[in-house]
Amino acid sequence: MFDKESYTLYKFHKQLNQSFQNKRELLECALPALLSLFKLNRVYFFNWQQDRALLSLKMMCKKEYCMDMQEDISVLNEPWFLKSLLQDGFVVSTDLSYPAAYVLVRWQKPTMSIQGEKVSTYMAEKVGVIRMERFRKNRVFTGEEEKLIKALAKEISHNLRNTEIDQAKNQRLAVSTALNNLATVFASSLRLNDGLELILQGVQKYFRFDRVRLYLTNYDGTKIKSILGVDISGQVTTEDGSALKEGEKELLREVFDSPNTYTSRKSVIYIPLKVQRNKVGFLTFDNLLSRRKIGYLDFISLKQFSTQIALAIDNAMLFERVQELSNYDELTKLPVRRFFNEKFADEIYRSKRFDLTMSLIILDIDLFKQINDGYGHQIGDWALKEVSRVIRTSLRQTDFPCRFGGDEMVIMLPRTNGEEAKIISKRLQERIRAITLPARYTDGKDVHLSISQGISVFPQDGTDASGLLEKADKALYYVKQNGRGAFALYRETVLPRE
Ligand code: GH3
Ligand code: MG
Repeated sequence: MFDKESYTLYKFHKQLNQSFQNKRELLECALPALLSLFKLNRVYFFNWQQDRALLSLKMMCKKEYCMDMQEDISVLNEPWFLKSLLQDGFVVSTDLSYPAAYVLVRWQKPTMSIQGEKVSTYMAEKVGVIRMERFRKNRVFTGEEEKLIKALAKEISHNLRNTEIDQAKNQRLAVSTALNNLATVFASSLRLNDGLELILQGVQKYFRFDRVRLYLTNYDGTKIKSILGVDISGQVTTEDGSALKEGEKELLREVFDSPNTYTSRKSVIYIPLKVQRNKVGFLTFDNLLSRRKIGYLDFISLKQFSTQIALAIDNAMLFERVQELSNYDELTKLPVRRFFNEKFADEIYRSKRFDLTMSLIILDIDLFKQINDGYGHQIGDWALKEVSRVIRTSLRQTDFPCRFGGDEMVIMLPRTNGEEAKIISKRLQERIRAITLPARYTDGKDVHLSISQGISVFPQDGTDASGLLEKADKALYYVKQNGRGAFALYRETVLPRE
């Protein structure tokens, strides 16, 4: 059988026996319970900062509600009060016109200690005080109540400890989960910049830094290639880092050469990114605007995470380099057909969307087999290279050539009509005709290259890739059939009624 006191305790225990997010949530449950159990008018919770002889008011509850409070009360001048509270865990104030009782709560909280680079966790003792007030002078606290209050304070202490432990665990879990999620997103994103943006935004969000910046450097860490940043509003900015700004040389040296240690005053940290001996870049995190210092645990988490970032960046760069290589034909250094098709599809979409014209040239070397057969494959290769060099150097920045296959090249000319395309064709024809095969291979004969070209125009000859290619090919066939060494618009090769 329970007596009344044990029953109250049991009920209180049940009430507190749940998982609270933090100390505040727990107090929001415990203080109103005390309020109704002891028919109080007000109940307060203070943190007792013993080293500074301060009681910091944290929360006040009355019948209708609880509210957070922030007020420090010096207890330097009340030694008797402190002494008996520490000794007995309970004291009744005498300096008020109504009864007020103080009860001590002691609990333990996981705390970090940092020595050099080493972090260790220990349980630090925390002390709090609950003050209970009744506004009627004659409603004094009885000896029985004192006993029960002390027992309930123990129950609160016990719950405070559990809540603090849970909270510390959850915080660490949240950080590592967030970083893991970020790493997963990053690993699955093939395009370097997209992945980096996600990472930086994520890091800024989870750690609540004012700014996060990523500097990508060359492998020996002497040049900054680009800077990617996320500012306080979450906005992503990119900067070309090729022109080294003032102070950046020193910054690079400092980041890569000096041992990267943490000082607690810091609101900026630099974390170098390295893969084996290669430097990839470095990250900076700052709270310069809000002037909050960056916690050591955050620093350690980021440092661990940076290894993953460095690896991922290195991989992505390698991927981009391979991708880049596979986009170009080895012999002619022109884009390959697959790469061209992607760009061509984009450009057709754009031309439709903005109602623009564009042209397509298919170019084929005349009687190229004869060159191969007559002077050898190597001379054939040389000729192909020369033709491609002429093509590359005779076009505008926005034009896009490719080696379509064999001795056939295709050139896309955005925002170019048929007449303008013919000017390009003429230029190519003349410049390629000027190529002379090396005399030592041709027995001194003057052998020149010749090309035939067919041109189609968007939108009149076709509105999709295959249509435009087919018409340009037909025009090319027409030129080949009519003596080679020339060019023609598809339009000109068909009879008006067709
Ligand atoms: P046409 O004027 O009708 O185009 O005559 P052609 O001899 O040029 O005929 P075609 O375009 O059909 O022949 C292309 C030749 O290009 C066939 C192939 O041996 C040669 N070729 C294709 N790729 C290469 C290459 O990478 N190097 C060399 N040396 N020759 C190549
Ligand atoms: Mg040919």
